[in-house]
Amino acid sequence: MPKNIQAIRGMHDVLPDESPLWQFLEARVKDVLGQYGYREIRTPMLEMTELFRRSIGEVTDIVEKEMYTFQDRNGDSLTLRPEGTAGCVRAGIENGLFHNQVQRLWYQGGMFRHERPQKGRYRQFHQIGAEAYGLAGPDIDLEIILVTRRFWQALGLDEPELQINTLGTVEERGVYREQLVAYLSAHRDQLDEESLRRLGSNPLRILDSKSPAMKPLIDAAPSLMEHLGEASRQHFDAIRQGLDTIGLSYRVNPRLVRGLDYYSRTVFEWVTTRLGAQGTVCAGGRYDGLVGQLGGRPIPAIGFAMGVERLVALLQEQGIGQGLNVPHAYLVLAAGEPQNQGMLLAERLRDELPSLRLISHCGGGSFKSQFKKADRSGASYALVLGEDELNRRVVGIKPLRQAAEQREVAFDGLREFFLSEAF
Ligand code: ATP
Ligand code: MG
Repeated sequence: MPKNIQAIRGMHDVLPDESPLWQFLEARVKDVLGQYGYREIRTPMLEMTELFRRSIGEVTDIVEKEMYTFQDRNGDSLTLRPEGTAGCVRAGIENGLFHNQVQRLWYQGGMFRHERPQKGRYRQFHQIGAEAYGLAGPDIDLEIILVTRRFWQALGLDEPELQINTLGTVEERGVYREQLVAYLSAHRDQLDEESLRRLGSNPLRILDSKSPAMKPLIDAAPSLMEHLGEASRQHFDAIRQGLDTIGLSYRVNPRLVRGLDYYSRTVFEWVTTRLGAQGTVCAGGRYDGLVGQLGGRPIPAIGFAMGVERLVALLQEQGIGQGLNVPHAYLVLAAGEPQNQGMLLAERLRDELPSLRLISHCGGGSFKSQFKKADRSGASYALVLGEDELNRRVVGIKPLRQAAEQREVAFDGLREFFLSEAF
């Protein structure tokens, strides 16, 4: 027998038992984004490799070792998008979306990173993210955080922990960087191989290291907070004041640096303890330099991205969304005339009740075997149409999930029946 071809390592199918949960999540999140006036943008999965090199930064995990990059038939170097912001900015510049206007945008879709697969970390994963362009003040930072908090409410999730930090401006980071390098160089013996390499190229990223062995060293490192200029400090204070006024609790985490180079000032993450090591379900921040860096007229920007797989796992962990999209009814049909009449009846019901989920049995077989399938479908009711019922223009209704008697309802009464069941 030929060997079965399997999915690529770290890339997963969302099977029909799980997809209702994805749909639920996507629908709720879209509603929330609409509430705040964010509009969807869809950009290609493939971009020129150069776009990610220039935006994410050469000395980052993503660009150094995680990108799916290949040459297409023309010899162009293309990359499967590892994140959504770069494409969003590229599209905005290219289509003039940033000229003298504020844009509130959101996107969703598959992202690709060649990481070591583990729970909550995949090679194809999905993000839903939003970006706001053209606003420099802390008010939009606050709005972005409020949008994300509303997601947890809309999904019925326990609120994760909000961590915030500020990275200051490029100049402020420059001064801090020197101090950090001095500190880390003095403890060179405690640095792992990767951090040693980063010491010369991108020392701030060492603070983002996932290595437990280096944690004490990182915890004791000098803090960027002490090197902030007046404007950066005010910006950060204003966000904190806003959060306090609204009553949104948060923790200032001075070690929060985020993986990408392009952030400035505000960064934040929502972190849960319910998912083990991969606990960040949403991450974002301000990236005032990026639009200019990619060739547009410089404008401020802020955004976030959520890991959909991790949110789905959270929903499952909290038992949310069970029984979504199960059919309301399963129509059991005798062969011959009842088959066609039943299909006709089902069509009428779908006309009258667009949200009714009704499976018509196909494939024949005895009533007994059809009832088994009805039961397995998860439907609340089996509707039965045999010769006898058809002659009397009634349908037998058998509750499958409760110990009630089978009853009969006239064809004309079915709409009422389902409405009264408040399905
Ligand atoms: P990490 O530090 O965990 O690698 P990151 O900083 O690379 O995260 P971002 O680029 O900010 O992550 O992506 C935003 C969110 O997307 C993350 O908080 C996470 O929820 C999700 N995410 C990132 N990488 C993956 C992945 N490989 N598999 C699943 N989800 C991911
Ligand atoms: Mg990463």
